[in-house]
Amino acid sequence: MGKIIAIANQKGGVGKTTTSVNLAASLGVLEKKVLLIDADPQANATSGLGIEVDNVEKGSYQLLEHTISVEDAIVKTVSPNVDIIPAHIDLVAIEIELVDKDDREYMLKKAVQDIKEAYDYILIDCAPSLGLLTLNALTAADSVIIPIQCEYFALEGLGKLLNTIKSVQKIHNPDLDIEGLLLTMYDSRLRLSNQVVEEVKKHFNEMVFDTIIQRNVRLSEAPSYGETIIDYDATSKGASNYLNLANELIKKNKEKNTEEV
Ligand code: ADP
Ligand code: MG
Repeated sequence: MGKIIAIANQKGGVGKTTTSVNLAASLGVLEKKVLLIDADPQANATSGLGIEVDNVEKGSYQLLEHTISVEDAIVKTVSPNVDIIPAHIDLVAIEIELVDKDDREYMLKKAVQDIKEAYDYILIDCAPSLGLLTLNALTAADSVIIPIQCEYFALEGLGKLLNTIKSVQKIHNPDLDIEGLLLTMYDSRLRLSNQVVEEVKKHFNEMVFDTIIQRNVRLSEAPSYGETIIDYDATSKGASNYLNLANELIKKNKEKNTEEV
């Protein structure tokens, strides 16, 4: 049974898309079947996986509208074992279109329930907001990964995000877990980076992934070639960080499943 993981933080530029694309590619390399859903109108995950955004006619927008089937929305990528439901800038309109619907928070959950079985992991790259798109992602998800940039104001807005998660748990999705807080863009040479790591671990200890994503220029170059870090430079620090994250995620979920049995 596939696990649905939303990658969310209403702050922009914290590494949501970089994590979505490269975690998906890494899980794929480790022979997990992965579907990435691009739920951000900026469509950076779509272009990051080498898909021409202007040509997207069947994607997350039509899926959320329920005007196409989920099978119709899925596109194969060149990354092994990774499929995507692409986004287009049109997706911005969905927030307004759904607002009057009674089941507006449940559109994504309903749309993907039939393909959950076909994948090991379904990752959702969220938009930098706490609007209806992100609420749909959190309602559909089994868990959420929260990327946190090792920078000034790293924890700013985190309280609001955690409160949103709590209210989604209360109203729409009682089973929603926090998969983990992921420290991103870490630079060991910077005192600030080390202070953020310390601070986050002090407050959230076992909720924080052991894997820390370092600042690595290869990670920021790869998207302009429409490539994941695995294809762009498999020997880079960025590739090894995301492969470690994929392994940690797989291990964590294996342990959880054996506990439940
Ligand atoms: P978000 O999706 O949260 O807005 P992105 O993943 O798009 O954030 O990252 C913001 C910018 O930072 C992008 O230009 C991306 O290439 C760059 N970036 C993200 N993670 C790293 C990293 N670990 N090292 C270097 N650059 C990074
Ligand atoms: Mg993004």
